[in-house]
Amino acid sequence: MKADLLLLHAPSSWSFRENTPSWGPVSGVIPSTPVFEMYPMGFVSIAEYLHRHGYKVDIANIAIWMLDHPKTNVARLISSMKAKLFGIDLHWMVHANGSIELAKLCKKIHPQTKIVFGGLSSTYFADELIQEDAVDFVIKGDSAELPILRLLQELEKTKPKYSNVPNLVYRDQTIVDNGITYVPETLDDFNLDFKYIVKMLTSVRGLKLRFPYRDYMKHPLLALFTVKGCTNNCILCGGSKYFYKTYCKRTKPAYRSVEQVIKDLLAIESYVKLPVFMVNDLQQAGADYWRELFTQIKTEKIDLPFAFELFSPAPKEFFEQISGITATVQISPDSWSEKTRELNGKPAYSNAALEKNITYALDGEVEKFDIYYMIGLVGQAQQELEDTLSYIDQNLATFGEKLHFFIAPMAPFLDPGSIAYDNPEKYGITKLCSSVKDHYQALTNRSWKNLLSYESTLSREEIVQYTYDTVDRLFDIKVTHGHLSQKEYTIQKDLLLRSKESYQRLEREESQPDISVADVAPGLDAPILTTNSELYFGDYSILNFRSLLRLIRRKLSR
Ligand code: SF4
Repeated sequence: MKADLLLLHAPSSWSFRENTPSWGPVSGVIPSTPVFEMYPMGFVSIAEYLHRHGYKVDIANIAIWMLDHPKTNVARLISSMKAKLFGIDLHWMVHANGSIELAKLCKKIHPQTKIVFGGLSSTYFADELIQEDAVDFVIKGDSAELPILRLLQELEKTKPKYSNVPNLVYRDQTIVDNGITYVPETLDDFNLDFKYIVKMLTSVRGLKLRFPYRDYMKHPLLALFTVKGCTNNCILCGGSKYFYKTYCKRTKPAYRSVEQVIKDLLAIESYVKLPVFMVNDLQQAGADYWRELFTQIKTEKIDLPFAFELFSPAPKEFFEQISGITATVQISPDSWSEKTRELNGKPAYSNAALEKNITYALDGEVEKFDIYYMIGLVGQAQQELEDTLSYIDQNLATFGEKLHFFIAPMAPFLDPGSIAYDNPEKYGITKLCSSVKDHYQALTNRSWKNLLSYESTLSREEIVQYTYDTVDRLFDIKVTHGHLSQKEYTIQKDLLLRSKESYQRLEREESQPDISVADVAPGLDAPILTTNSELYFGDYSILNFRSLLRLIRRKLSR
């Protein structure tokens, strides 16, 4: 593998293969195992952008490789990789341990190759990360495409002038921070060129190394960003308006134009019929934006299944316009309690408004309406979780099989740079990790209670206990309403019980750190909090013979 830039994605904990964690519920409602093998979508955007500017870029998902090769030494794989620059993401803090260890290994094997870190967490902790011997550069801000291009251009010179690279932090006798001067106002310069992406994904060597997550062949999903930034200030979110303004110097969201989104969608459709997750709420760009987008999707007869995210309920017209498009909708009120929502800075809306939205959505022929709740919020008490279960029970009875509820712990970390992280006393939060080192260390714990980086109204012990109790009862409710088959119910109950037992055993035997939990912990793949059929969008496996043939034919014709 030879490239100008090689983008590498690490597992959450570098030693997960020897020191098996029992973290089942922490990745319970995302398409990743607790190894968090999903890489940020920025990888694809950076790869495409640099390819367009004449550079060879490759992606290696080291986390997936380590999952698939439990006994093989990673050093051999890294030795086979050659690049002018290694790019490692620290976008989510959950990779603090794996990313740093990966950087150390890369530096040891390829001491001449420079290493750059990037992502939102790298932005927040740039000053600390650049102190690491293995880290040569950190790119700050929310858009690394152009800064990495400039960095590669400088690296080609005999005497690189790093002061020319926007958003860069580097060492030159002392630590130099060029400041964030590159903040793109639109996303139209960052395409999803599917000709390039498919070519990269289907290249003969290391097909799986480039996949965004382990189950990608079984449950593929394409994430399409229509916006960078947010107009809301949820206090626990590391992607809020506050974060972007304070740490990325972004004063307003940057949108991708409808024209560009349609081009991307047409390109996707010409290759594969996969579900497209439209990340972020289209409502942020205003009603004219989503009206135009829905109209164009229908005019162009784009026949892809979509998942739309809402930050707050949408007007009736939104769902009338969706009618005719294959769509699912998801919203995260986080809490059933309107008061808790307010305390956590969520957009203000009532449960009545949410229920009206479900009605609009189902009338508008939305295929599935997903609602997500969390455990560990500011102001949350046990009674609220009881009330949440009753609320779910009532609403499943009212709305039937298209409505789905998910409950997960807020885990594992409090987002660095979130309003609550920066003002813990104000929100009654006890912050247990304040540096990269703290997070790195937390990721060496095998018990997910000890992994949690915060306590709020609920202690870590309570977050764990209430998660097991609440989800257990949620399964009872789901089977009653036919959302789980009897077989799925038995499997989920068993997985949850085994996860709980492994947690309890670790707690009891904390003094014996060498104990193996493999015999009681569910496998790393097991979806503990929900079934894959509830979480994913129908059956769109790219193992589907016709899709595969179509891909290969297209690839061969180029
Ligand atoms: S959680 Fe809140 S602040 Fe964060 S992206 Fe969603 S709406 Fe924006």
